[in-house]
Amino acid sequence: PITKSDINLQKMREVKRLKSVEDKRVGSEVFDRITLKTLYKLANQGYIHLLNGAISTGKEANVFKGTDSEGKIVAVKIYRVTTSDFKKMQYYIQGDPRFNVRSNSKRQLINNWVLKEFKNLNRAAEAGVRVPKPIVAKNNVLVMEFIGDDNGSPSRLMRQSKISNPQYVADKIIDYVKKLYNDAELVHGDLSGFNILMQENEPVIIDLSQGLVVDHPISLELLNRDIENLIKDFKKMGIEISHDEIKRKIMDL
Ligand code: ADP
Repeated sequence: PITKSDINLQKMREVKRLKSVEDKRVGSEVFDRITLKTLYKLANQGYIHLLNGAISTGKEANVFKGTDSEGKIVAVKIYRVTTSDFKKMQYYIQGDPRFNVRSNSKRQLINNWVLKEFKNLNRAAEAGVRVPKPIVAKNNVLVMEFIGDDNGSPSRLMRQSKISNPQYVADKIIDYVKKLYNDAELVHGDLSGFNILMQENEPVIIDLSQGLVVDHPISLELLNRDIENLIKDFKKMGIEISHDEIKRKIMDL
């Protein structure tokens, strides 16, 4: 795990300390050699200038707060090649006509997984779903819009927030699932209050990495699971709505 909070990529590159930096961090899961090279490339291209502080250390990925060359805050999601669930990734990607992965390389699989998240975020945004706008995907690194407040604090998870406008939020989320399904032709696949951020009073859907095209064999199963999770979250907010009612709204019946 990363303990050093400020990593100035540009400086590291300029002073040509790449080798020693790598050696020091080679035991770290996040910044392995290829990840570092990827970060340097993104730094050279201006996408990331500084990585300052972890937002989250998940099972498969770490999310950092960063700034780009113009000082704008971005979110940088870095997948760890060592701990990813390759069986799941393979299964999800195999049913997705956008990818034709024959290789057994874990790296290639992760790169495709990141690309999938990038594409899903784009499709969702185009369909009018509020998600972090994806900026660039390269290898196991995804740079996207930072969801937070004006002071640079990341937004909190819906599950951990006090919702002052529950009916509005519930309606908005159902509308997003509907747009995702009908317009983006995607199912989130891991939707719950743990993958929705509250920016001010607006829900923002995150983590579309396991998002599936609606043609995928398990898309309906996952849509139903997403709905069940939402029902539980809505209930906690004081909103009662049945599975059928949500389904009707989503399918526009
Ligand atoms: P994981 O698959 O590791 O859970 P997520 O994409 O869900 O990865 O991100 C993990 C956490 O990082 C989220 O719960 C959220 O708190 C934070 N996060 C993710 N994306 C952003 C973003 N674009 N802006 C601000 N915070 C984010």
